[in-house]
Amino acid sequence: MRHRLLVPAAAAACMVLAIPASAAEPSPGAPGIGDSYYPSYGNGGYDVSHYDLRLKYQPDTDRLEGTATIVARATQNLSRFNLDFALDVESVLVGGKKAAFKATGDHELEITPAGRLDSGKPFTVVVRYHGTPSEVEVGGYTAWLRTPDGGVAANEPEGAWWWYPSNDHPRDKATFDVSVAVPDGTQAISNGTLQSTTSRLGWTRYNWRSDKPQATYLATLAVGKFDVTTDTTAGGLPVINAYSKDLGANDGAARASLERTGEVADWLAGLYGPYPFNALGGYVPNVPTGYALETQTRPFYSPRQFARGANVSVVVHELAHQWYGDSVSLKDWRDIWVNEGFARYSEWLWSEKEGEGTAQELADYTYALYPADDPFWTVRPGDPGAENQFHRAVYDRGALALQALRNEIGDEDFFTILQRWPTEYRYGNASVADFRRFAEKVSGKPLAELFDTWLYTPSKPAAAAARSVALGAPKAPAEPKSWRKIQATNTVHSHGRDAHRGEEHRGH
Ligand SMILES: [Zn+2]
Repeated sequence: MRHRLLVPAAAAACMVLAIPASAAEPSPGAPGIGDSYYPSYGNGGYDVSHYDLRLKYQPDTDRLEGTATIVARATQNLSRFNLDFALDVESVLVGGKKAAFKATGDHELEITPAGRLDSGKPFTVVVRYHGTPSEVEVGGYTAWLRTPDGGVAANEPEGAWWWYPSNDHPRDKATFDVSVAVPDGTQAISNGTLQSTTSRLGWTRYNWRSDKPQATYLATLAVGKFDVTTDTTAGGLPVINAYSKDLGANDGAARASLERTGEVADWLAGLYGPYPFNALGGYVPNVPTGYALETQTRPFYSPRQFARGANVSVVVHELAHQWYGDSVSLKDWRDIWVNEGFARYSEWLWSEKEGEGTAQELADYTYALYPADDPFWTVRPGDPGAENQFHRAVYDRGALALQALRNEIGDEDFFTILQRWPTEYRYGNASVADFRRFAEKVSGKPLAELFDTWLYTPSKPAAAAARSVALGAPKAPAEPKSWRKIQATNTVHSHGRDAHRGEEHRGH
């Protein structure tokens, strides 16, 4: 009797609960997150909070196999949704149940779960996959860097597709556990802290954890034969650096640069507030590229950055990004200035501190270097276009804009802004307009015209507009001592696709 009575009651309760959720019919999540430069990057309809990547990599063959477990929450009633990915998928589970999937476009994985996903509810996706990343081309190139002893994933804005499925846009950040099995004697380097290593049957597994929100392109993986150094900062943070055993003549200069990571980070913390993450370090694999990248907690550096001796300036650049770019990420790839303008300006501040030329001297020299008819001035750092996203002007004119701001509002307000901004938007996203409003709020001055002049006008600002910049400067400013080191970091973000086309930006 009781049993028969309870059944209808339970069924009725379910129906009542089901009504609000069914108010909106489920529909497919958008195949892009809405970026103005890269409409198909990222996806709509859900938000990822954690990636668990369990991988196995064979350096001899470049075969990568893995299981990605993605913890997410639906932001609409979903009938299906996309991940961004380029390797071969074997199976997909959503909520533990088999889901249908198909590859569409050149980097979309379209997933149809067995049942609808309700808005606001958490769900888990398990993707099993494999591939040879160096052989997988999207848009004519692979971002996966093959080395004689392994492979490396570090590129911007595309990097994730070749090693894990994701919602590939900085607007959807998540924490990461990256566990990689490699043959004994080989190392696997990733972000954050090394939680443990285990060895079994000829394979060593490295378990890395990045426990603060991290954009997908800032996750990195390097497999190869590395010499790993460990240390602790004065504040107790672990510093883990890794050097390929194959750096040859660049080995000493690489170490003389990266081993100053703790010192540089402490100096930056004095300017920008407490370091935002759980670990520090960097790695130099034996890649033939020329760029560096601010992969979270553990920047990637090409050996070529150290071909002319130690370059602490590039370390300053990548570590400055930990605050400006990583903790505070851009909202849209159009907002690249909120990353690069500040990373370059940090190099100027380091030069000033080291007595190798003040930021003002570097600004004067930069301003004078490019005549008014140089195409340099046609690139608008505040909205450079996808094709010019990593153009020299985004860096140099981007830093000029900050020097102009400093001269307009004075050192006290300027350095208050630089320190408070990373706290105001910590672990979040911000746009160029957000920065202008923040600077106006702190300084109490209207700054629309200054930002328009330096970031949005496709011509050289007149000497009058640049009055503070050029004030007191000799007609032909002398080259600051730090100039060449800083220009050598111009290969910092040469884009994978540009490198493929042979258009790598180089310092002159
Ligand atoms: Zn940069």
